[in-house]
Amino acid sequence: MIKLGRRELIGGGIFGILSAVLGKEFLKMNGSKLEKVPVLFLGHGSPMNAIQKNEFTESLSKLGAELPRPKAILMVSAHWETQGSHVTGMDKPRTIHDFYGFPKELFNVQYPAPGRPTLADQISSTIIDPQVAIDRGGWGLDHGAWSILRHIYPKADIPVIQLSLDRSKSMRDHYELGKSLRFLRDQGVMIIGSGNIVHNLGEIDWNINANPHDWALEFDEWAKSKLLARDFDPLVTEARNSQAGKLSIPTLEHYLPFVYALGAADSSDTMKFTFEGFQNASMSMRCLAFS
Ligand code: ZN
Repeated sequence: MIKLGRRELIGGGIFGILSAVLGKEFLKMNGSKLEKVPVLFLGHGSPMNAIQKNEFTESLSKLGAELPRPKAILMVSAHWETQGSHVTGMDKPRTIHDFYGFPKELFNVQYPAPGRPTLADQISSTIIDPQVAIDRGGWGLDHGAWSILRHIYPKADIPVIQLSLDRSKSMRDHYELGKSLRFLRDQGVMIIGSGNIVHNLGEIDWNINANPHDWALEFDEWAKSKLLARDFDPLVTEARNSQAGKLSIPTLEHYLPFVYALGAADSSDTMKFTFEGFQNASMSMRCLAFS
C-alpha cells in the first residue's frame, strides 16, 4: 500500500491528485503520453561484463535498443547495503569501483549519468513506511548499476538514482517496498533490479563458460517455473527452503534486487525473459522484463 505524504499531495497540485486517484485513466483522458514504464531484473555477474562482449552483454545492448527511453532510472543494486533504506540524492553521482583485483581498464570506466535529486525527494516524501532517507553524497553508482547500464544506455544521459538494501528488513519487507515503488512507473521512471537469481562466489569457476552446477540449474529452473506461473509468493517466502535454494542464495544481497522487481511488477504486466544462461558455474544470468 502506498502511503501518500502531505507534500506529495500539495506538490502534485490538482493534476497530481487526480492522477493519484484515477491513475492511468486520468492520464489517458488528459491526453498525456505517459505510459507505464517496464520493470527489469538483470543479472550482472562478474564486473568484467562491464568491458566484455559476450552473449550476455550483447543481450543488454539489444535490450537498450528496444526499451523506451525513461525519464529516469531507479536502480536497486546488490552492492549497496545499509541500515535503513536510502536513495541517492546527488546531482552528479560518482562512479564507484567497488571491487579489487581486476584489470586497470575496468577501474578506468566512468558512467557519468546525472542524478535526479527531485526524484529522491519525491520517493522519500511519498513512501512513509518504511522511511527512505536521502543520501546526499556518500554513495553514487556502484558496479551493480554501471556495469549493466553502460551496455543498455551507453550515452549515460539518463538520470540514475540508487535505492539501497536495508540489511535489517525481511524478504517480505523488501517485496512490500518494491510494491510501493510501482507509482514511479506511471511517471516515466524505470525500476531496475541488478543482482543474480543464483549467486555463490564460494562455488565459482573462473572459466566464464564453465557448466553450471546441478543445484544452480535446479534453482534457476524452479524460479523460472514460478515466474511463468505468476506465482511470486514462493519466490519471496520459500526461496531458501530447498538445498538448491540454500546453495544458490548463500547471502541475500544478489537475490533481493529480484524481489524488488517482483514487487514493482503488477498483474497487468506481461513478462519476458531477455536473457537466460549461466556464467562461472554459480551465477544465473537470467534477466527479465515486466511491461
Ligand atoms: Zn554483484
